[in-house]
Amino acid sequence: MMAASKVASKAASTPTVAILVSCEHGGNRIPSRYRELFLAHQALLRTHRGADFGALRVAREMAAALDAPLLASTVSRLLVDLNRSLHHPGLWSQASRAAAPEVRKEILHRYYLPYRAKLESLAGQKIAAGRRVIHVSCHSFTPQLNGVVRNADIGLLYDPSREPEAQLCRRWRQSLAGHAPGMRVRMNYPYAGTADGFTTYLRQRFGPAHYLGIELEINQRHVLAGGPPWRALRAAVIAALRESTAGFAAEFAAASAAESLQWPPSPPAPGHA
Ligand SMILES: [Zn+2]
Repeated sequence: MMAASKVASKAASTPTVAILVSCEHGGNRIPSRYRELFLAHQALLRTHRGADFGALRVAREMAAALDAPLLASTVSRLLVDLNRSLHHPGLWSQASRAAAPEVRKEILHRYYLPYRAKLESLAGQKIAAGRRVIHVSCHSFTPQLNGVVRNADIGLLYDPSREPEAQLCRRWRQSLAGHAPGMRVRMNYPYAGTADGFTTYLRQRFGPAHYLGIELEINQRHVLAGGPPWRALRAAVIAALRESTAGFAAEFAAASAAESLQWPPSPPAPGHA
């Protein structure tokens, strides 16, 4: 059919996948304005509760290697957790919960809302331009929590009911087996991909055909050990992601030639910016 072949040639000539990298827990910085709230919590700030050790490094290298936009925060999650919904009790920490309501409102407007809006709008723009967004949110987890040793090196978190996410994570894990043999890669571990988080929120905004939200979780054991093995692990994770998204993009190009994309839900007004 005429229409189908037109779509096919368009799909073949334009990039179909857009990768976005983010890091919500990239540092343990507390802006001076709010330092007073943390006077009694200095030790806590330096623990895994303050930041995801190593996550920002992975995110930066990943974005550079894949030529993808990076959105990262170095303000501690103990001020406000960018990976929690506004209604979630974990949005505020034991330190920031004590702040006056107007102070917390200010924190939301300075740090939380702009961050969340920025990625949502970037994803929306890519989707409106006909791209399928692969959002990789980079995290790390403490090797041992409440006395339980976590038995994975890498976790890939996704929503099992969204087939494209499941498929991409299977590819990523498969590819990792080649790049980092012996690494224990577990799906939806140590957390469920459907638990409250930024990707969970974005899934409600964008359908499964347009948005894939994956959380990468790396065991901090490797970060803390450091050295060449840690460098090699980062390189393997990124190389495997590159491979799996490339295969995925090719498949998506073929599939999108056959289906009609449902974005935007209603046609934009002519001459929109
Ligand atoms: Zn995290």
